[in-house]
Amino acid sequence: MTNITDISNKTNIILNGVPASAGVAIGKVFILEDDDFILIEKEISVDKIQDEIVRFKEAIEKTRLELQENHAKLNDMLGENYAKIADAHLLILNDPIINKESFEIINNGNNAEYAIYKVVEKISRSFDLIDDEYFRERKHDIIDVAKKVIRHLLGKQKKTLADLDADSIVVAKNLTPSDTIAMREVMVRGFATDIGGRTSHTALVAQSLEIPAVVGLKNISIQAKQGMPIIVDGNQGIIILNPSDETIENYKREYEIQISNQKYLEQFKDLTATTLDGKDVTLAANIENPEEVRSVLKHGASGVGLYRSEFMYLSRKTMPTEEEHYQNYSKVAKMMMPYEVIIRTIDLGGDKISKLGLMDIGREANPFMGLRAIRLCLKYPEIFKVQLKGILRASMHGNIKIMYPMISRVSEIKEANEILEQAKQELRQEGKKFNESIQVGVMIEVPSAAVIADIIAKEVDFMSIGTNDLIQYTMAVDRINEDVAHLYDPLHLAILRLLKTIIDAGHAAGKEVGMCGEMAGDPTYSVVLLGLGLDEFSMSAAQIPKIKKIIRNVSKIEAKELVDELLKCSTVTEISTVMKKFKYR
Ligand code: PEP
Ligand code: MG
Repeated sequence: MTNITDISNKTNIILNGVPASAGVAIGKVFILEDDDFILIEKEISVDKIQDEIVRFKEAIEKTRLELQENHAKLNDMLGENYAKIADAHLLILNDPIINKESFEIINNGNNAEYAIYKVVEKISRSFDLIDDEYFRERKHDIIDVAKKVIRHLLGKQKKTLADLDADSIVVAKNLTPSDTIAMREVMVRGFATDIGGRTSHTALVAQSLEIPAVVGLKNISIQAKQGMPIIVDGNQGIIILNPSDETIENYKREYEIQISNQKYLEQFKDLTATTLDGKDVTLAANIENPEEVRSVLKHGASGVGLYRSEFMYLSRKTMPTEEEHYQNYSKVAKMMMPYEVIIRTIDLGGDKISKLGLMDIGREANPFMGLRAIRLCLKYPEIFKVQLKGILRASMHGNIKIMYPMISRVSEIKEANEILEQAKQELRQEGKKFNESIQVGVMIEVPSAAVIADIIAKEVDFMSIGTNDLIQYTMAVDRINEDVAHLYDPLHLAILRLLKTIIDAGHAAGKEVGMCGEMAGDPTYSVVLLGLGLDEFSMSAAQIPKIKKIIRNVSKIEAKELVDELLKCSTVTEISTVMKKFKYR
């Protein structure tokens, strides 16, 4: 059990976490509470039952008002799709069965909190029996509404993103990738969470949005108080609560240095990523949505090496249509011309949970090893085909490639290609045009695929290494668990050997090999990856100038020599000594 002391009167309280997104931010704590609270069952004497019913009705009315306000705020800030969630919740709140059964339980002498909890528990169990996954998952909406009513009964005010101020730094137990996207719309300065690792998707979205963030702080959501001054240092992975004036001044200076460094790096924007001995590599960007393309071009990327298309599914309750896919990808492809855009087909699952009820949320003991990515697509070929048709049509507007995620065996590529063929055939029949010779590649992010990369390379046009998952699966280190974050080691000999196997296998088959995991955007590893022969580095846009500067100041030959030395090491200490010896210009 963690012992939390009251820190309100202390200054400069430093909390250590995992650096998730670089940069510093100074602001005020905004606690985004989660919904876990202790429910107390109480007996209500007969003479108090009427009062309890009044209390219940008042809570329902307060919830109604809250939902109506939420509708208006969400509509203004995040658009119609988010606002629709509040509408669906209002319908549930008005449900006669929920109300009638709650009254019955209160009339039997139980408190209102217990009554609504019991009713919703019963409904939720009956939803578990529904075969259709989409409808089954609707139970979470009912639970959400019940939690709101209970919160009002307990007199607890929950803050939502709609209550943010301009200087807010969000502090939460956990944030989902879709929470993080919503933060872009409301311009959060930074965030800090109890849970999370360096390559959790919440962290990756923060990097794309260039929001400084620290995760894995364990109990900041309990220690920080609403409105408390806070500094997020995403470079060092620390949070400072109640900073002194001197600390604030130091961080203001650091912020200015950060801005002037960014200005300095801008000079590399239009230069190629060419080594001193003339080897060109491609520096591309990872994106989650079309709005990021402006920043991608601003930072001098020569392509999109990974479009995480599944983000389109995260914050909505209806399936994207073929037309939406088409519009979305066409927009990116047109803006990125003449560069190429690699669209990864949906990689839902793991920590990216869709509200569409495709996954058995809560039933999978190991979601990262469960029905994720290509596995989900092959289970629901109709959904997959809708996306593929959208991508194929968009290929008329730019330089688009398709990439399948989480391939672990050759048969998955063949099955996916069969569905792609059906999608092409349907488009031909519908008279819709597409690039007949569109290139198809795969992510190598499961160790089994890495080991048979030579066989896979013959089946595809290109491969891209997903180190976030490859390291997670190879080293058995959960990418969102802060307790094992220190074991996540991209320079572990096992990883270096796997990377060499994959890149060599690709080249032997005459195929290009890229990398779109975080390792590609971390300056610590640039020379190693260059020496291993990587052709394309894809990363969050803000990293591109830093990596370009390194590539332009090293030769391919010395990078290769470094790799040769690393591959001879047997221990972590030896690897780190060799790395430290390397002289950067
Ligand atoms: C990866 O696994 O390295 C990758 C790029 O994909 P994601 O982070 O979306 O799982
Ligand atoms: Mg991955």
